[in-house]
Amino acid sequence: MNDDNTGSTGDAELELLVVGSANADLVVGVERRPAPGETVLGSDLAVHPGGKGGNQAVAAARLGARTALLARVGDDAHGTLLLDAQRAAGVDTSGVLVGGAPTGVALITVDPSGDNSIVVSPGANARLTPADIRAAGGLLAAAPVVSSQLEIPLATVAEVVRTLRPGARFVLNPSPPVPLPAEVLAACDPLVVNEHEARVILGEDAGDSPEEWARGLLALGPRSVVITLGSAGALTADGSGVVRVPSPKVDAVDTTGAGDAFTAALGWRLGLGEDLATAAGYAVRVGAAAVTRKGAQDSYPTAAELAEVAG
Ligand code: ATP
Repeated sequence: MNDDNTGSTGDAELELLVVGSANADLVVGVERRPAPGETVLGSDLAVHPGGKGGNQAVAAARLGARTALLARVGDDAHGTLLLDAQRAAGVDTSGVLVGGAPTGVALITVDPSGDNSIVVSPGANARLTPADIRAAGGLLAAAPVVSSQLEIPLATVAEVVRTLRPGARFVLNPSPPVPLPAEVLAACDPLVVNEHEARVILGEDAGDSPEEWARGLLALGPRSVVITLGSAGALTADGSGVVRVPSPKVDAVDTTGAGDAFTAALGWRLGLGEDLATAAGYAVRVGAAAVTRKGAQDSYPTAAELAEVAG
């Protein structure tokens, strides 16, 4: 892990590059969410670093992975907050572009029952372009594993696939789910989805069991598939078969961002040479640890904390 807080991993070899979104999550508690035209008073504002890309990078770095983030934030206070959070976790932020639009934000109101309403303003995330990816060729050339999600433009993710170094592994969590071009699907190794994403991508013929979803997803072209199943763990599928990977039993407090931590940990361990089921066995422990604490990035375990989670 980077411990000099300069935002660069220096000469050490990069283990994971995350290309994705960074958002400031602005959270206000309310007695009830406002009806159209209504104004309600809420709690003090809480601002948390978030976005799937930012979450993944922090999760991996906290585990000890040499991690870099390629993203775009605004030239504003939220951008500074997000960069500080990445650097504090040890992420190389030399690939984070600044400016072009305000930092992405998620405006979140939460009522006492925990139900929320969310408005996302993608802001700078929507301005991370294919040209930005081409300009970051050095980072992509250094990355043995690249992990992406879909809170940045799909054309940008497609450019990532075209810019991977030979032999590099590409991990995609297609969230929020949209139809994926064949070129992107064929590069995924694995495609990582939860139940909702699997059902949206497969449509009406999805089938009823995770094993059926995995077979359906593999037929779309990815080299491998991982389906996360909440407290039930995960399922891996590739040419050599389908494996169920149970999650440790924990007292779940808040599942926010558990999927991002799972995916980052999985990608990192695959890059270290673990096979898919072994890497998923590590990732379910990371996901389980993340749900035992509140928040997203705040909930992610260090390697020492993970050691306390039974396998
Ligand atoms: P989120 O959208 O909340 O980030 P997700 O829907 O993408 O999550 P999940 O399948 O809910 O993904 O969770 C990812 C991983 O986190 C699971 O594979 C599992 O390892 C772990 N996990 C989630 N919920 C629990 C739980 N209640 N108990 C133990 N582990 C859990």
